[in-house]
Amino acid sequence: MTDAGRRSEVAAALREVHGRIEAACAAAGRGADEVTLVAVTKTYPASDVVLLAGLGVTDVGENRDQEAGPKAAEVQAAGASPRWHFIGQLQRNKARSVVRYADVVESVDSVRLAEALARAAEGRSAPLEILVQVSVDGDASRGGVTGDDLWRVSDSVAAADTLQLGGVMAVAPVDWDPDRAFELVRGLSQRLVAAHPGATTISAGMSGDLEAAVRHGATHVRIGTSLLGMRNTLR
Ligand SMILES: *Cc1c(COP(=O)(O)O)cnc(C)c1O
Repeated sequence: MTDAGRRSEVAAALREVHGRIEAACAAAGRGADEVTLVAVTKTYPASDVVLLAGLGVTDVGENRDQEAGPKAAEVQAAGASPRWHFIGQLQRNKARSVVRYADVVESVDSVRLAEALARAAEGRSAPLEILVQVSVDGDASRGGVTGDDLWRVSDSVAAADTLQLGGVMAVAPVDWDPDRAFELVRGLSQRLVAAHPGATTISAGMSGDLEAAVRHGATHVRIGTSLLGMRNTLR
């Protein structure tokens, strides 16, 4: 496909996604400016990130360090500077690499990872924003804290000078009603905000369930497929 062809294809998809977000906000009695679109660009090239930035997308999400690091460098070299959200499972030995390009790490689910990121973020000009990933169904193998670990991890993030606690992130389990999943996430968010008033972010909702997420207070939706197309790999 030509560059112009890809551009018009992505621009049309972006209009459609913005339309869905606006409609969902209107239905929920919320302003469309209360929800930030994070364009998930995993498996797609740096040229697509540059294109999205040119179309006004401010935030992009990636889930693998070995892909995101070089892509972020390429995007920067092309003159674009979106905010990078790291949204995938992260090993502690990748913390140093991720803090070089990420503005937000959405997938923090252990005190040990929070501590590794806090150390790695020393020397940054601005604190690294952290979202604590919560597990909706209690199956921690797919990432996310369960039970009281939400409080342990969020307290550890809040105590670190180099980190800023932004809020929570969640993925609705495939076998759950998304409304039920996001209602639960909102309840956890409300309890978190009671303890940490600044931690108001709720990153929830993907291509298939953004409407339910917006209905239940999502401040950020992470959209890949509906913007850029089906990925060849399942991730
Ligand atoms: C891939 C991914 C998304 C985007 O999913 P789509 O269904 O393609 O919109 C959102 N969040 C996370 C954590 C992801 O890994």
